[in-house]
Amino acid sequence: MPGRSPRGPREGETISERVTLLADVAGIVSRSHDLRETLDNVVELVARRLEADACSLYLAEPDLGRLTLRATKGLAPEAVGRVGLALGEGLVGLVAKRREPIACERAREHPAFRYLPQTGEDRFESLMAAPLLVREATIGVLVVQTERPHRFEPADVQLLQTCAQLIAPVVLNAILLSLVGGSDSQRQRFVTELARAGIPIAGFESQRRPERNVELRGLPTSPGIAIGPVRRLDDPADLEEVAYVPRQDLVEEWQALRDVLVEARYDLDAARAVAGSRFGPEFAAVFNTHIQMLEDKGFVGRLEVAVRGTGNAVEAVRRVVDEYRRLFDRIEDPYFRERGIDVDDVGRRLLAKLLGFGDRSVSLEPGVVLVTSVILPAHFTLPDMEKVAAIVAEHGGATSHGAIFARTLEIPAVTGVAGLMAAVRSGETAVVDGAAGRIYLSPDEALLAEYRGARERYEIAVEHLDALRHRPAETRDGRCIALTANVGLLADLHLVERHGAEGIGLFRTELLALAHRGIPDEEEQEKLYERVARAVAPHNVTIRTLDLGGDKAIPDLGFGEEENPQLGWRSIRFSLAHEDGFRAQLRAILRASAGGNVSLLLPMISSLGEYRRARQLIAETQEELARREVPFDRQLPVGVMIEVPSAALIAETLARECDFFSIGTNDLTQYTLAVDRGNERVAHLFDPLHPAVLLLIDRSVRAANRIGIPVSVCGEMASNPLAVPLLVGLGIAELSGTPAAVPVIKEIVRALDASLVAEDARRALAAGTVQEVRAIAAERLRQAGLFDHPDIGGWLRSIVERYAEPG
Ligand code: PEP
Ligand code: MG
Repeated sequence: MPGRSPRGPREGETISERVTLLADVAGIVSRSHDLRETLDNVVELVARRLEADACSLYLAEPDLGRLTLRATKGLAPEAVGRVGLALGEGLVGLVAKRREPIACERAREHPAFRYLPQTGEDRFESLMAAPLLVREATIGVLVVQTERPHRFEPADVQLLQTCAQLIAPVVLNAILLSLVGGSDSQRQRFVTELARAGIPIAGFESQRRPERNVELRGLPTSPGIAIGPVRRLDDPADLEEVAYVPRQDLVEEWQALRDVLVEARYDLDAARAVAGSRFGPEFAAVFNTHIQMLEDKGFVGRLEVAVRGTGNAVEAVRRVVDEYRRLFDRIEDPYFRERGIDVDDVGRRLLAKLLGFGDRSVSLEPGVVLVTSVILPAHFTLPDMEKVAAIVAEHGGATSHGAIFARTLEIPAVTGVAGLMAAVRSGETAVVDGAAGRIYLSPDEALLAEYRGARERYEIAVEHLDALRHRPAETRDGRCIALTANVGLLADLHLVERHGAEGIGLFRTELLALAHRGIPDEEEQEKLYERVARAVAPHNVTIRTLDLGGDKAIPDLGFGEEENPQLGWRSIRFSLAHEDGFRAQLRAILRASAGGNVSLLLPMISSLGEYRRARQLIAETQEELARREVPFDRQLPVGVMIEVPSAALIAETLARECDFFSIGTNDLTQYTLAVDRGNERVAHLFDPLHPAVLLLIDRSVRAANRIGIPVSVCGEMASNPLAVPLLVGLGIAELSGTPAAVPVIKEIVRALDASLVAEDARRALAAGTVQEVRAIAAERLRQAGLFDHPDIGGWLRSIVERYAEPG
């Protein structure tokens, strides 16, 4: 009867009644073939026999860092699968962490108590919980609650603990079975994964994590120091391989799928809200197709028919999604065809839920160090991304677009960390030093203390420099350098002002397309560009037309099928091949230029013909708008990116016909040195300070000067402290870089002498090796007194020292 209290053995109760409960739990477990059903039966039985008002089971996620409510009798059923707790969070998390049961007569008074509103548990007074243990790992927690205060007897606690232990093996088995398709090798693979994640299964390492002080090195990708628990963002398992046992009853099978549809809708609503607040309202549209599809009567109706036909919800989802997918593939309009990706995503979400994977992306704990194989732009649209303290990746280079996102959003990052995925364990503490490109796993107390101090010093320095943002970027002998910011997301906009950038030197429009997973329509683009132009006024924004392709490919636009995407159908080549889309973007940029503070930049120009064609389309678009009396800036400057060696070599020819140059040193380095900018295996060869790259920059600057057009640098080199003296020395008048780097670059510029760095640049151009160039730049920083700078001296010294190290 609800409201009555659970009992220990009391007068009138026989030991055999207690034994019966255990025997019944064991019976359920032995007949178990479906985890959800087993758990439901267990909580139902335990609640009934212990006369508790609620009994619930929380199960650990495969990385053991979180627990999710998986079954309940008495709490709100909608909370199942949605409510979760981190290890150590709330009473349930505490039980999991300590691996010991707990009994509280007044749960709310316990300091660890955490109220979970979605469960409707506010009416409960007392709580008793026991961990499901497999060796030293907690894989779940069994909880009973009563509405009236109740003092639990030791025998109650013991009974609950024994029940929990009876369920533990079936839970573990279910986790394993849901992860593997059945073959021994697959099972072995997952067992190894689980062992790595901390579940010790026969012969594998235990969950106890000693201080290991493992040091790993990678490429410094985004500065800053973070200390936090590791969260692996492993590639999702191949859902095709996972076994699924359908329910025998068709009605139940259909109900299971309907539940999953509701859950998916709930997740998507949450994701839409987060994307909107994080990246701006336009980004919420990312999830519109998904949601429409889940609500579409036709889609749901087909699923129902398919379940009735196959008796299998997983099979039904695969069939119907396939059908929709084929439909989208036949659409000619690329914009609508791209929505096929959303169809796939909906299918993946439904399958993941049916197969028990849930949506792990939405549950990151605050302050985690995200560990992944490679940083993708898509990671930055994960709903929980703002909780991430640092990102570390085994592959990828420091100028990949994922890396650029990390820097822009000021998340410390290290990429190209060889052996990372094999070395790291979920949940262990990691120290990430983004500027040095170092990671320490399970550090000892001394190392932790050292890095806590370093983190504090770093934060103070950043604050201090930001406070000085209104000072001009002027060399000691009076040469002004414009310091602008590279931006691509609305989320970056406020950083422009915060770090004192004088406008936006590069607005990467393709990031919006990547976030949308498709090219936004003209109206959306226009709204965004206008918003950006207004936000930076009276400063200027240089809007670059779409630079898709390479590592910024959107699946389904055909990029993925190229053998050499970096040399292929990308950027301006793609835009010129999609004239209608290109004209739409030009119209949007032109309209946004009405306020007079917009410039237009063409990426990846490699020949005069290509430039002329783009320019002709711009002129035609301008005529069209003029005819329609749409206001735009008739003086709109049109610039060329110098990022392909051929463009640098014909710079003078280009300069005669365009209004400004912006040198993209990321691609210029990649193409000049034939080094893939996103490949960590050749990352040591990727160096914009290579004399060959400097020679091409010099050639472009001279050409621009002869013709009288301005020239800026907008590649990552502009934020590289060692490169700054040389770029100023080469005569660059504008440096556009990561917003957070602006204050540091300003300090450097203010300490330099234009005449001295001009001489340095001359020597660098004649240097034989990168090392010689670095030595020249480092010596200039030293002589300028920058190594003793109170805020950035230590950091600058460490950069120079790092490059002095062999290898
Ligand atoms: C560059 O190539 O240097 C550049 C600024 O463009 P992106 O990094 O977007 O390719
Ligand atoms: Mg580029």
